[in-house]
Amino acid sequence: MHFESPIKRRQSRQIMVGSVPVGGDAPVSVQSMTNTETTDVEATVAQIQRLEDAGADIVRVSVPTMEAAEAFGAIKQQVQVPLVADIHFDYRIALAVAERGVDCLRINPGNIGREDRIRAVVDAARDQGIPIRIGVNAGSLEKELQRKYGEPTPEALVESAMRHVDILDRLDFQNFKLSLKASNVVMTLAAYRLIAGQIDNPLHLGVTEAGGLRSGTVKSAIALGALLMEGIGDTLRISLAADPVEEVKVGFDILKSLGLRTKGINFIACPSCSRQNFDVIDTVNALENRLEDIKTPLDVAIIGCVVNGPGEAREAHIGLTGGSPSNLIFREGKPSHKVDNQQLLDELEQVIRARVAEAEANGEAAPAKITFGA
Ligand code: SF4
Repeated sequence: MHFESPIKRRQSRQIMVGSVPVGGDAPVSVQSMTNTETTDVEATVAQIQRLEDAGADIVRVSVPTMEAAEAFGAIKQQVQVPLVADIHFDYRIALAVAERGVDCLRINPGNIGREDRIRAVVDAARDQGIPIRIGVNAGSLEKELQRKYGEPTPEALVESAMRHVDILDRLDFQNFKLSLKASNVVMTLAAYRLIAGQIDNPLHLGVTEAGGLRSGTVKSAIALGALLMEGIGDTLRISLAADPVEEVKVGFDILKSLGLRTKGINFIACPSCSRQNFDVIDTVNALENRLEDIKTPLDVAIIGCVVNGPGEAREAHIGLTGGSPSNLIFREGKPSHKVDNQQLLDELEQVIRARVAEAEANGEAAPAKITFGA
């Protein structure tokens, strides 16, 4: 059965990261970060383009030196997607990228040092309409907070964040978003819940140093899934020790699973068992690869036998139910035609692409359906 999403988003003020709105009623945006040498302009531009092709709304680039700031300017001219510059401490780098068209500065005002330097960065951001991301990380908490709390805790993360928030408040600068990241899922959840009740600025979600593709995906899905279900979170980055393109895919999969974004094919597939009449796992993997280029949202159910096949197929745009001697394809919930195992993959691809073309021609934006229950 399909229900409307029960998620009520937390009301946050909206900021603009280049052309991408973050917060308010904007869709939750998906970010990733380059892992090339920023001074290698060609490699960084190529990676940003791959991230953009995968659907990234915003891309962050590390800018550790003035040389990297120069390179950032050249990169910015060659890409479309909004860029965030990741800067630690050095206010001159922040000023340099502000002159070179940066769309958001990730810098913690409390780490810049002297008041005149903080003011210079905030004034440049204000003059050019550039938002700031305050990014608090459990791994780099201020020493005195470490002493006060003994170890990173949600309260310590929030206290650290509020110090940076207070600096921006004092300078009457509200064009910022904030992240509070820990590698521990439970701490991440508690910290975001706390801060969500204290400020109305947009929140950037993430579990930091989450791990490799599988473990990092699981941790991120648990932490971000729980927060997003509570309506907390305006933009996210999945941190994986993997190709950053995977971060974008996982980010969208989390949002798609909650009905918060739609993009590409939403596969509904059974795990398969000895009742299957075709190889469900191979078929789903092959289809995922073949149809990776599709951005139009569509629900496709691939089910190995009649136990659950017709039920799931009825709720999807395109469905396949395994049968013997041949399988049955459903369109819009109705039986359409039979197909044998040899033709299965090519036929499904053709039927799905035809349905996507129809949706695009009609300007149809099929809403993501949320399925509850078994
Ligand atoms: S739908 Fe059929 S093939 Fe798939 S897991 Fe259930 S019983 Fe097995």
